[in-house]
Amino acid sequence: MQIPDNFTAGKYRIVLKRGNSKSPIGYADMKLVDQVHQVNRTQIVAHRGYHPGSVPENSVASLIEAQKLGVYGSEFDVYVTTDNVVVLYHNASFSGSEVASNSKWKGVRPDSSTYEDIKDYKLSNGEPLPTLEDYLVQAQKYPNTKLILEIKTHNSAEKNMRAAKVCVDAVKAKNMQHQVEYIAFSYDICKKIVELDPNAMVQYLNGDKDPATVLKDGIRGIDYTSSKLKDSWIKEANDLGMTVNVWTVNAESAMVDFMNKGVDLITTDEAAKGMALIGKPFVSDK
Ligand code: MG
Repeated sequence: MQIPDNFTAGKYRIVLKRGNSKSPIGYADMKLVDQVHQVNRTQIVAHRGYHPGSVPENSVASLIEAQKLGVYGSEFDVYVTTDNVVVLYHNASFSGSEVASNSKWKGVRPDSSTYEDIKDYKLSNGEPLPTLEDYLVQAQKYPNTKLILEIKTHNSAEKNMRAAKVCVDAVKAKNMQHQVEYIAFSYDICKKIVELDPNAMVQYLNGDKDPATVLKDGIRGIDYTSSKLKDSWIKEANDLGMTVNVWTVNAESAMVDFMNKGVDLITTDEAAKGMALIGKPFVSDK
């Protein structure tokens, strides 16, 4: 498609040219948008795996759903046990309610337990509590789907540092550095990951620092909740070459809005909706 030099917004006649023949198609109102090049840059991250219907979040089954959908990445939450096994769970303590046999673990914290203590905890689909090892093995089957590994804030600074080390070591042991990105609310965890693997893509979650400050510490991305992500920070991060991730965006209209603002990644529970949107040749909020 040829756009005239000195294009300005207005009504244009659209003509199809093939060789020497020209066929008028009609008229269109066209407008200038200063960030139009960014509309197609956005990719989708499935939040806590992709878990439609009865698929439990943070399960291997949810990772497989995300992989089959073809998302950029699958986000999940981890804690390290007292004996250095990394397990997937979102909350700081077990609900105990996923299946009846879990009730004895109600209120137990994974970060205060040995793996032996909690390994029989079951997800609602009968899966045993997944480990990072389970996730890495499944991720190797789909090298194009990234793991977005959230290290949760543990109940001591020592555990935070140990969790960072155990996770980075596990990823390095499988040579999967290219396939794993890290996110954390704890700024100390983010800095520790950068110290352990300076090339790692780390995104800070807590939404309280401007991009330039974060980048000075070698953290190359921000991953802020939609209500805290200022438009000026998106632009600043873009200009600095940082990655901008936003969570948890489930409405199509909000997804389109963030695409137009130039975010790189949208983290969503509605990954299929997001994939359908980015699969369109263009998106419009009008
Ligand atoms: Mg998370």
